Amino acid sequence: MSVEIDPHAGFCFGVRKAVQFAEQILSAEGTLYCLGDLVHNEEELHRLTSLGLKTIDHRQFEELRNCKVLIRAHGEPPETYETARRNNIELIDATCPVVLKLQEKIRKSYGEIREEEGQLVIFGKKDHAEVQGLDGQTGYQAIVIEKPEDLNKIDYSRPVQLYAQTTMNGDEYKAVVNEISVRMEKAGGGTEAFRCTQSICQQVSGRISKLREFCRRFDVVLFVSSPKSSNGRILYEECRRVREESYFIEGPDDIQNSWFRPDSRVGITGATSTPAWLMEKVARQVKERMKG
Ligand code: SF4
Repeated sequence: MSVEIDPHAGFCFGVRKAVQFAEQILSAEGTLYCLGDLVHNEEELHRLTSLGLKTIDHRQFEELRNCKVLIRAHGEPPETYETARRNNIELIDATCPVVLKLQEKIRKSYGEIREEEGQLVIFGKKDHAEVQGLDGQTGYQAIVIEKPEDLNKIDYSRPVQLYAQTTMNGDEYKAVVNEISVRMEKAGGGTEAFRCTQSICQQVSGRISKLREFCRRFDVVLFVSSPKSSNGRILYEECRRVREESYFIEGPDDIQNSWFRPDSRVGITGATSTPAWLMEKVARQVKERMKG
């Protein structure tokens, strides 16, 4: 049996930067509030909590005064910044630059499309923090498309500007773009009244082809992630498409001996929120079991 960790797996630069910010402040000050889970990975959160990170929700944030609060890579809507100003909270803003740029684009586009009496549409997960931050740029007037039936919320006789949450699946986004085009043609809205922007992060879309290549080289693939991770679920589905013997695990305790044969080649990979140390821990556990 052989074991190899995917060299392209692990934190994307947005998450890496946010974790580094937290580590720097924690090592200097010993404590730091973070608005929402800093990463969608329980093991990494546990590690950061043991260093002094305190995860708070928006209700707790409203009650804070005169302290520092970290904003994670997903970003926040404008009212979070207003609350911070009002309550003398210093924000350590680790919003990923890709998300920040998308927020700016949406804010600008919304102003323009409103002039034309059009609609701003976001393809994404309604309750995801990033989508809340994006929708917040429109004063929560965007139409969020999560399921096919949500497409019925759009008025196809009026202009449409479409964006996607940065971690959505590219093929599904293409299908949404096609469906809106067809419906606009039918409703007489015309294709020129439909504008769509490629806003899926390349750290996610670029990983898919590399992930496919990686999975092809192994008999068994262990995908390490938290069920909370949006891109984790998307990337795991890709693993399953290439290698049926792919298993979603949160950590070493989930590994089952029945998955392996004595000559299995085992590949270990993960989401953009999976820390490298956790994949190494999984690799060590697989090697231990090989010995036993
Ligand atoms: S997936 Fe992309 S957009 Fe999201 S935090 Fe990572 S680098 Fe930023």
